[in-house]
Amino acid sequence: MNEFETISRYFKPLTQGRPEALGLLDDAAVLNIPEDHELAVTTDMLVAGVHFAADALPQHIAHKSLRVNLSDLAAMGAKPLCYQLAIAFPEKPSAAWLATFTQALQEDQKTFGIFCSGGDTTRTPGPLTISITALGIVPKGQAVKRSGGRAGDVLILSGPVGDAWLGLQCHFAQDDKTLLYFTEALYKPVPRLDWAAHLRTHAHAAIDVSDGLIADTAHLARASGCSAQIKTTPSFFSAAGFEMIKTGQIDERALLTGGDDYQIVAAVPPAALVHFPDAIIIGQLMEGAPGDIKVQGLAGETLQFDSLGWVHF
Ligand code: ADP
Ligand code: MG
Repeated sequence: MNEFETISRYFKPLTQGRPEALGLLDDAAVLNIPEDHELAVTTDMLVAGVHFAADALPQHIAHKSLRVNLSDLAAMGAKPLCYQLAIAFPEKPSAAWLATFTQALQEDQKTFGIFCSGGDTTRTPGPLTISITALGIVPKGQAVKRSGGRAGDVLILSGPVGDAWLGLQCHFAQDDKTLLYFTEALYKPVPRLDWAAHLRTHAHAAIDVSDGLIADTAHLARASGCSAQIKTTPSFFSAAGFEMIKTGQIDERALLTGGDDYQIVAAVPPAALVHFPDAIIIGQLMEGAPGDIKVQGLAGETLQFDSLGWVHF
């Protein structure tokens, strides 16, 4: 099967027959943006051996590649519209790989309300690389930025952190017992699109947690010209994650900085907390050196960190 047959057989169904994609037979998609809306556009590139294990399953690669982008849209308060899918293959992909990969994308498209508008397919002398650009729509002027936070805002978190990092450790340790649960967290993060509309209406600032809770909260604080204070509580972690801290198997700092969580941290005025009933309160923004962050551990002590989170270089 050549490149064009591959596109027609495996990628065209991802367009769900949407006219904007022009059947993947033209040079570009032609999109229609609803009046009084803006486009939020984000790209995330995933490289085998860096963002996912070289032997990761095609469905895991598919879920993760799309969901990390949807998480960015959620953090901006945007509603998914469509996405562009660029893939560089180190070798000709098998029909089975393509079928499983695109079926997983189909599933997520249905779950999260998005279609594929096009992409690019190429060969590489390097590792398998997937780059997705997701487009979302947001009412004009209502995109939620990292920079809108103010001193006195409460910092809230949409769900537990650390499970994806634990998934990675299980993978390294080949620990089959806990692998399944944590592998889900690593490869099938749930983008918090359910928060998008609330963020637009009630939050001053938001960021999604990819680098690590502490690092990304510091990013939000810096962009907002504030310092931040975090007070760690058991509610920051899943029951399984907290159990591992309690039993001394891992250090809470590993889960606070591990990253790949794809939860959302938002800065909201105290009066708006009622609109986020499921939120975990993690701390607050304060007047102080922009990006400075002070973290209190579970036992009440001030935590020191070698690194606040993931950096590529
Ligand atoms: P061009 O060479 O003009 O860029 P391509 O041959 O790369 O065109 O692509 C032809 C069509 O197939 C385009 O509509 C493009 O969006 C689509 N396409 C190519 N690769 C992918 C892919 N991996 N996923 C989805 N659509 C793709
Ligand atoms: Mg092309």
